[in-house]
Amino acid sequence: MKGLGIIILSLELRKNNAIFLKLQLSLMTYDDNNIFAKILRAEIPCKKIYEDDFVLSFHDINPQKKIHALVIPKGKYIDLDDFSANASAEEIVGLIKGINYVAKKLGMSSDIGKGYRALANINEYGGQEVPHLHFHLFGGERVGKMVE
Ligand code: AMP
Repeated sequence: MKGLGIIILSLELRKNNAIFLKLQLSLMTYDDNNIFAKILRAEIPCKKIYEDDFVLSFHDINPQKKIHALVIPKGKYIDLDDFSANASAEEIVGLIKGINYVAKKLGMSSDIGKGYRALANINEYGGQEVPHLHFHLFGGERVGKMVE
C-alpha cells in the first residue's frame, strides 16, 4: 500500500496471556517530488548504468568512493522497511538481482572483482536524505570502516 499511509494490525500476547489486537497507523507517505522520482520520470537526467523492469541504476552525483553507484526500485517505496512490508516478491527479487547486475557491470562483484559495499540508509537515524529507497554501491577501492 503506497501513498496514503499504512495500517498495521498485530496480535500481542501480554503478561497475563490475554491477547490484544494492536492497531497502528503509520503516516509515512511517498513524496512524488523527491529527486529519484523525478529521475525515474526522466524529468531530470542521470548517468545511467543499468535499467530493467524493476530497477534503475545510475552514478551518484557526489561520489564518496572511486565507484559510487545507486540502485533504486522503480516502485514508489520510501525505504527498505516500506519495501520489505509492501513490495511484491517479484519486486524484491528484481532489486536484489539488480544490485548484482550492476556490481557485475562495474566489475566489482566477487566472481569477477574484489568486492564492494551495498548500503541502504533508512530514515532519520540512518541518515537517509532522499525518501525513495536506494542502495549505495561503493567500490573500485577498499571501502574502509563500516560506520563512523
Ligand atoms: P541518502 O543519504 O542515502 O539518502 O543518499 C542520497 C544520495 O543521493 C547522496 O549520495 C547524493 O549524493 C545522491 N544524489 C542526490 N541527488 C542526486 C542526483 N540528481 N543524481 C545522482 N545522485 C544524487
